Amino acid sequence: MEEECLKLLIDLHKNGKRQGPGGDEETNKMIELAGLKQNERLKIADIGCGTGVASIFLANQLNANITAVDFLPEFIDVLEQTTKSEGLSNNIKTLVCSMDSLPFDDEEYDVLWSEGAIYNIGFERGVNEWKRFLKQDGLLILSEITWLTEDRPAEIQNHWDSEYPEIDTASAKIRVLEKAGYSPIAYFVLPKNCWLDNYYRPMEKRFSDLLERHGNSQSAQSVVEAEKKEIDLYERYKKYFSYGVYIAKKVR
Ligand code: SAH
Repeated sequence: MEEECLKLLIDLHKNGKRQGPGGDEETNKMIELAGLKQNERLKIADIGCGTGVASIFLANQLNANITAVDFLPEFIDVLEQTTKSEGLSNNIKTLVCSMDSLPFDDEEYDVLWSEGAIYNIGFERGVNEWKRFLKQDGLLILSEITWLTEDRPAEIQNHWDSEYPEIDTASAKIRVLEKAGYSPIAYFVLPKNCWLDNYYRPMEKRFSDLLERHGNSQSAQSVVEAEKKEIDLYERYKKYFSYGVYIAKKVR
C-alpha cells in the first residue's frame, strides 16, 4: 500500500474504539463459550490487537497476563496510553511485531486471541503457524470473515474474491482448523450491530475531521470514498457475509 494512504488509514482508525467489527457483548460471549474463568491465571496473546479493545476487555474481566501485538506502532501507542490511564500496565504488555514473526516460545500461551486480523496473513497459514505457541489443550479464539450462505450474488462474490479469496463458509473454516490439529468448541456469527453501531457508524463520524486535518486532500478523499464503498457493500450484502467467531482447542 502507498505510504501516504497507510498514514491516512492509521489516522482515521487510531481514534476509533475498535479497528474492525466486534462488540463487548460478543467478546464476553467468547469468554463464556470458551469456558475461561476469572479464577484461572491465564496467559493470553491478542494478535493484531489494534488499539487494544479486546485486550482491555479481557484484562478487566479475567485474571490474565496479556501480550497485545500489532505491527503498527501508532495503534500500540494508543493502547499504551489506555493501559496507563486505566491502571492495567501490569496486566497488558504490548509488542510491536508482525504476526508472521512472533517471538513467542513453544507452548507459552493458554489462549491465542485475534479479532478481525488473521486475514492479514491468511486464516490457514495463521492457525497452522500460531499453533506451536499454544499449550496442549490451549484455546484459539478468533474472528474471520465468513460466508453465511452457500451461494452469493456475483457482485459480492467478486469483491471478496479479489480482496480475500480465503473467505469461505464456516464448515470450510472448521475443516481447516481440524486439519491443523484443533478441535472446534464453538462458532457464532457477529450480528450486524457489531458492524454498523460499533464500527461503521463511529467511523463515519470521523470522516469530516480526517478530511479537515488533511486539507481535504485528494488522498484523504479517496480513503474516505473507499471506506464508504465498503460500508455500502456491507449494507447491501450483509445477509451473505459476516465475521464468524471460531473457538477451537489445540488437540495435537
Ligand atoms: N483486533 C482489533 C484490530 C482489528 S483490525 C479490533 O478488533 O479492533 C486488524 C489489525 O491487524 C490492525 O490493527 C492492523 O494494524 C493489524 N495488522 C495487520 N497486518 C498485521 C501484521 N502482519 N502483523 C501484526 N498486525 C497486523
